[in-house]
Amino acid sequence: MRRRPPSSAEGGVPIQLLSETLQNVDTSEEEEQPVYHKTPTQAMSDKEILAILAHELGHAKMHDVEQNMWVQAVTSFATWATLGWMVQSPVLALALGVLQPIGHVACFAFDYIVGPTLDHGIKLMTDGITRQKEYVADAYAARVSESYATGLQTSLAKLTVNSNQDPDEPWYYEMLHADHPTFANRYYGIEEVKQELYAGKPKVRFDRLQDSLDRLKAQQSK
Ligand SMILES: [Zn+2]
Repeated sequence: MRRRPPSSAEGGVPIQLLSETLQNVDTSEEEEQPVYHKTPTQAMSDKEILAILAHELGHAKMHDVEQNMWVQAVTSFATWATLGWMVQSPVLALALGVLQPIGHVACFAFDYIVGPTLDHGIKLMTDGITRQKEYVADAYAARVSESYATGLQTSLAKLTVNSNQDPDEPWYYEMLHADHPTFANRYYGIEEVKQELYAGKPKVRFDRLQDSLDRLKAQQSK
């Protein structure tokens, strides 16, 4: 399990304040719980685009596409092997209430019962693999330079705001549904590389975070 910083609910710094880029997020209607945010889409800067490209190159460097093709081959084989077994198994036919294997009965059972269960089980595993690959590709980009690392952090922050995503989903939600780690986890993954490689330089500007937090509070109380 990855080490996690305290979430905002646990008394940590609100995650939306972790990036300077996010200082302008519209929180004025927070109490009304709008379904869609009104913040204009924020474009990526040149630095951020370079960092994103470095992340994608990280996938290429780690041969992720080739590995995914192997994973796909194995999971496809498992899926069709299961269907093949179900169509000809006398034991399964008896379990389904017919005296001998019947193709469309087995197909029905596969479509509605076994197939979806198998798919979800496979997805749980492949999502886990994909999430690990994201951390590796992030680290690859972050190791290029501190500017790339920061660019990746702020671009992920923008992406999260632009697409109205929850930046800090609970770990079990991420495990069950997400093929990419949450913004919070990726942010801290990159932060770890920064601490390791670029220590001695200014790190997270908590003083600025506190400033922006104070500003937001002042805005809200108006
Ligand atoms: Zn990626």
